[in-house]
Amino acid sequence: MDSKNEGEYEVVVIGTGPGGEGAAMHLAKHGRRVAVVERFRQIGGGSTHWGTIPSKSLRNAIFQLAEANKNPIFRACGANFQLSFKQLRKAASSVIDRQVEIHKTYFERNGIPIITGQARFVDANTIEAEQEDGARHRLHAKSFIIASGARPYHPADVDFTHPRIFDSDKILSLEQTPLSVTIYGAGVVGCEYTSMFRNLNVKVNLINTRSKLLEFLDDEIIDALSYHMRDQGVLLRHNEEYASVDARSDGVILNLKSGKQIKTDVLLWANGRTGNTDDMGLEKIGLVPDKRGQLKVNDDFQTSLPHIYAVGDVIGFPALASAAFVQGRYAARHIIEGFVKDPLARVIPTGIYTSPEISSVGKTEQELTAEKTPYEIGHAAFKNLARAQITGQTVGMLKLLFHRETLEILGVHCFGANASEIVHIGQAIMAQTGKANSLLYFINTTFNYPTMAEAYRVAALNGYNRLF
Ligand SMILES: Cc1cc2nc3c(=O)[nH]c(=O)nc-3n(C[C@H](O)[C@H](O)[C@H](O)COP(=O)(O)OP(=O)(O)OC[C@H]3O[C@@H](n4cnc5c(N)ncnc54)[C@H](O)[C@@H]3O)c2cc1C
Repeated sequence: MDSKNEGEYEVVVIGTGPGGEGAAMHLAKHGRRVAVVERFRQIGGGSTHWGTIPSKSLRNAIFQLAEANKNPIFRACGANFQLSFKQLRKAASSVIDRQVEIHKTYFERNGIPIITGQARFVDANTIEAEQEDGARHRLHAKSFIIASGARPYHPADVDFTHPRIFDSDKILSLEQTPLSVTIYGAGVVGCEYTSMFRNLNVKVNLINTRSKLLEFLDDEIIDALSYHMRDQGVLLRHNEEYASVDARSDGVILNLKSGKQIKTDVLLWANGRTGNTDDMGLEKIGLVPDKRGQLKVNDDFQTSLPHIYAVGDVIGFPALASAAFVQGRYAARHIIEGFVKDPLARVIPTGIYTSPEISSVGKTEQELTAEKTPYEIGHAAFKNLARAQITGQTVGMLKLLFHRETLEILGVHCFGANASEIVHIGQAIMAQTGKANSLLYFINTTFNYPTMAEAYRVAALNGYNRLF
């Protein structure tokens, strides 16, 4: 191999999504010689190109359209805006381009080389990056961080090349807005797309393989989401499993094991993800992914080979861009320092961009009840808040769970407009140690008025007044 195609580094990172970026930036800022390998033609990872950014930009465009069409002032002027899925999707492309540019400058400014190509281990300290034209680049390093992400899971008996069958990547290239859609899988991605399609007036069947939506959430929030989805006209079916998919020229029929048959214009398969570990030469170094392609790691994100770390979607839960970045940074710190004295916050917030939006952090009522923690609840309904009345976004609630003796905040659960922002106020207090994590903070603090943040004072007083 030509020596100019060979490089010696302290750390090589695979992937330029949030996991890879978090790791590479921290290493570079601490003077480590680091390179990243990326197989896609642009940096940013699944987060920028197929996941978070396109789906949230599309959601925002759909939301604005729906709001404009509902607005009584616009309606009185006869406005009835009609935009196709493709036109709405355009809004996302400009955000993707800007994100790629910004993140590219981060790598450039920190002098981190980006080597294009499919990374494969040759041995435990060498990676080869193969470009599309067959050119190869060899990188030797003491440590590696695998941040290769995940992709939609494809069962062998479903034909994803059929023009009416989509996964969460392919749906972004949908040309026409369909009249009806079946979404198979009611996880976060399935629920978010349900809300987007419903806001476009598409008939939606949401098929859930479990007994309730998003089981990891607090029951009261799950009930609220189910209620609002049904109220918006979504046909929700729980405890169903597919038997077969029959794709035809005029629609797709989903045959369920229960005997039910559902025919719609298109099918969106949103059931599971597979870690990107194939064709990475892992067999050469003895790293064995599980059946979902995911790598097992310890609390310091080390695989069974301690100098090879894995972070982000490739290790599975929580499979969030937010968590991937923090994990990448943690792995980098562990490489530099040999240990990390302040462990990673295990309490990770969830932000779910359905209609209504949902966000939570900390324990649910189910968990606190199971562990017999003496807790109390404080509620604030958005419909009673001046700010919500002014903006017209009155659907929603903030719920605080706190220890009835110590007043420590144990969980913050919210649904409604801007829930994923609102939750961070509670998270900041929850993260305080000792007496600083207290319900009293919300009672004694002056909040701007009118704001949604005021919900914290209302919920705190509501809960405090329940104590005896
Ligand atoms: C529809 C959808 C919506 C989402 N919405 C949100 C959200 O709102 N908020 C949130 O926090 N998260 C969201 N997520 C999840 C989020 O996108 C992921 O958690 C995040 O992208 C994971 O980051 P990562 O760095 O682990 O992997 P990725 O971002 O997937 O990056 C991995 C990179 O590695 C590259 N790669 C893979 N294998 C190789 C190889 N062998 N050689 C070289 N390069 C390789 C890939 O090309 C890719 O660029 C969403 C996901 C989906 C699918």
